[in-house]
Amino acid sequence: MDNAVYMDHNATTPIRAEAADAMAAALAATGNPSSVHQFGRIGRRTVDEARETVSAMIGAGGGFDVVFTSGGTEANNLALKGCGRERILVSAVEHPSVLQASADPRVIPVDRNGVIDLAALDHLLASDAEPALVSVMLANNETGVIQPVADAARIARRYGALMHCDAVQAAGKIAVDIESLGVHMLSLSAHKIGGPLGAGALIVAADVPLEAQILGGGQERGLRAGTENVPALAGFGAAARAVHAGVDAFARLSVLRDRLEGWLKEVAPSVRIVGSDAVRLPNTSCFTLEGASAEVQVMALDLAGVAVSSGSACSSGRVAKSSVLEAMGVPDADCAIRVSLGWTSDENDLDRFLDAWGALYARIGSDNVVAA
Ligand code: PLP
Repeated sequence: MDNAVYMDHNATTPIRAEAADAMAAALAATGNPSSVHQFGRIGRRTVDEARETVSAMIGAGGGFDVVFTSGGTEANNLALKGCGRERILVSAVEHPSVLQASADPRVIPVDRNGVIDLAALDHLLASDAEPALVSVMLANNETGVIQPVADAARIARRYGALMHCDAVQAAGKIAVDIESLGVHMLSLSAHKIGGPLGAGALIVAADVPLEAQILGGGQERGLRAGTENVPALAGFGAAARAVHAGVDAFARLSVLRDRLEGWLKEVAPSVRIVGSDAVRLPNTSCFTLEGASAEVQVMALDLAGVAVSSGSACSSGRVAKSSVLEAMGVPDADCAIRVSLGWTSDENDLDRFLDAWGALYARIGSDNVVAA
């Protein structure tokens, strides 16, 4: 649709001009970064520059390595499978690429706002002396809720555990500093920050003995075999530079998000805003309208030219039950939708959403709502 409004930036965000330009330049060049001749050296330089800008975006100094991957999913799998720890502790609200990366993870519960229970983490670690890996995301993809990762890392380190953080949704939206988070490993994804789909990175402390999960070549210092996707990494690096310079500007989105939520509370008092008592990303609003399924809301909004997603995890176009909302004990989790704003969002987008959702509510909302 020509004038459709995109409000699903947590799913993926439009590519930034800087990233598209860098990719076009890299596509025009020939050269395998492993080749020693001048063509190869140009490719190698492109990859190394991307490594530097991605490192800089999250404040990783010389004590960390950047391992490029095919995205956040692979980075999370590499961290959990390659860390050499059998005992894995994950928060209840992790992305499936963390939840499903190990056979039998112990789950750290969250409160009704989706914030991890640090006392429970301490208790879990104290209950078993086997060296563990703890994985806690920085910001949740469905709710935008931000976790106390630095506190969790302090607890983990006290028990000799390794600490991993999935920062895929946080990067570019809030300042991310790996040193002050105190984590050993951190995952990133290019397409969530205005780079291309299909590129990501695991940032790993140099003293963590990580084991490669993809074998058959010495690329990425033996930690991830396969010829590097040079154009994608060029785009990732350029996007990282752009968001690093502009992360403060992203905070402006909280004004739009707050306007949206204020309007909802006024127009539809039965709406429940998920995680609203927790610290959240400035761009994300997840809310339920009792009696109106997420699918119906998403479809009606789509017909009105407004793209949002259901609050539940959605893969391959299939809406699955949300384990995040379930862990938070959200009633009517199947009636939750997620509006996620991004670097292209403005007041007009919000007006379009309010018109479309207001029409939907007038049509189905007030009839269907069951008195609480
Ligand atoms: N982690 C989180 C929190 C995410 O939101 C996503 C994607 O939605 C991923 C990991 C996976 O990243 P990718 O799409 O690059 O595989």
